[in-house]
Amino acid sequence: MSKTCGLPGQPHAQPHGHPHGHACAPLPASDDPRYRRVLWAALAINAAMFAVEVLAGLRSGSVSLLADAVDFFGDAANYGVSLMVLGLPLVWRSRAAWVKGVSMGAFGIFVLLQAVLSALSGDVPQASTMGAVGALALAANGAVALMLLAWRDGDANRRSAWLCSRNDALGNLAVMAAALGVFGTGSAWPDLAVAVVMAALALNAALSVVRQAMAELRQVNQAPAQRSEAPGDKA
Ligand SMILES: [Zn+2]
Repeated sequence: MSKTCGLPGQPHAQPHGHPHGHACAPLPASDDPRYRRVLWAALAINAAMFAVEVLAGLRSGSVSLLADAVDFFGDAANYGVSLMVLGLPLVWRSRAAWVKGVSMGAFGIFVLLQAVLSALSGDVPQASTMGAVGALALAANGAVALMLLAWRDGDANRRSAWLCSRNDALGNLAVMAAALGVFGTGSAWPDLAVAVVMAALALNAALSVVRQAMAELRQVNQAPAQRSEAPGDKA
């Protein structure tokens, strides 16, 4: 039921087969071709923004852009899972979630290492690139949120999509605020502070995704006879 992807520490109404933390969760699968086109567009936008933020982050020396890219990676993976799992046993959804969680965790650690390197080097990132790419990311997330608006069915999905979009927008705004801070102070610290907080949130989310996926896979292994049956939210 309540598929929220709220901020850490937020209480949840009931247990359900779905991880929490900052990360957004895959949307329900559907064989409606129009809905699938929307998912494909959302996948393309998130994958493109992941690439843009990684390249811009590395070129401008901004670690907070790299940290923001982790979320685009996770969301692109979610749309990929939503498109892929239709017609497949649910175990594949858990396996995909595990791969996504481990990748996000590895990327989060990479971001933290980049933050240490950046702090040691003392180089100041390009505030203009940070601000421009942060604004582009905000526009991209806004566009995806509007596209999905028409397809959110049920209060739980609506709430989930809203919390997801809001958290993503907060991340983009944090990068833009860091850009202002870097511009104002002429130092890398605003960028590093935002990057470390975002990387910590991403690592936390990755951990809960991996834990959830492993718990689901354990359940499947304990009941091999039902491997092709969907365990469902109540399992
Ligand atoms: Zn997200």
